[in-house]
Amino acid sequence: MRVLVVSDIHSNLSALDAVLADAPAYDQIWSLGDIVGYGPQPCECIARLSEYEHQRIPGNHDWGAIGKISLDVFNKQAAKAALWTREQLSASDMAYLGELDEVLELEGVTLAHGSPRAPIWEYVVRADIAMENMAAFSTRLCLVGHSHVPVAYWQQHAGRNCIGLQLPEGEPFSYAEGRSLINPGSVGQPRDADPRASYLVLDTSAETVEHRRVAYDIGATQTLMRSRKLFGRNIDRLEYGI
Ligand code: ZN
Repeated sequence: MRVLVVSDIHSNLSALDAVLADAPAYDQIWSLGDIVGYGPQPCECIARLSEYEHQRIPGNHDWGAIGKISLDVFNKQAAKAALWTREQLSASDMAYLGELDEVLELEGVTLAHGSPRAPIWEYVVRADIAMENMAAFSTRLCLVGHSHVPVAYWQQHAGRNCIGLQLPEGEPFSYAEGRSLINPGSVGQPRDADPRASYLVLDTSAETVEHRRVAYDIGATQTLMRSRKLFGRNIDRLEYGI
């Protein structure tokens, strides 16, 4: 099966549409959470994904927006965005974001927003954190989001240290050997100093992922955010990918 893997769309429809237009052929979409939060078009992003056959797991911003987790631990601007998002969502949007398993296993691949051992909150941003998480899933590959930084952590043998690898852009990366924990980066708010939308195409038969980037109309998203009085710093950061 070929899968378009997206994460951290963050209500950025312009970025999501650019990814959908850029992606080579796939059978299904898998979303790793944070469909909403920060950005200006939460309902539109839910509606767009719903046009496609897709699977999804929740992120902290999704559950923060619907009140399923407390906003006390969100920073001020993220909490403000979550409350604004809550006002926009319909009852069916709420159900769409709420009634989800925190971890899924599909086609021999584990999906978690943060990490397999703490799916809503933990950031896997170092090889030692990746290594500690290897015991929390049993498949060869685990896909996570949350940090908004594309990366692969790879473990050759059980008990060995993980190493962090940059995912080559536009080239297949094999996960057939050893075990891997891979982050596709963020569609709607990249934080690796590259403002282009980031995603993966997964081929479960070939056991490869291909990391892809696509430019999108950042100005269109920023204009909508300004017109909706959404959150200064989160407007500017889109330009810099931070
Ligand atoms: Zn996020």
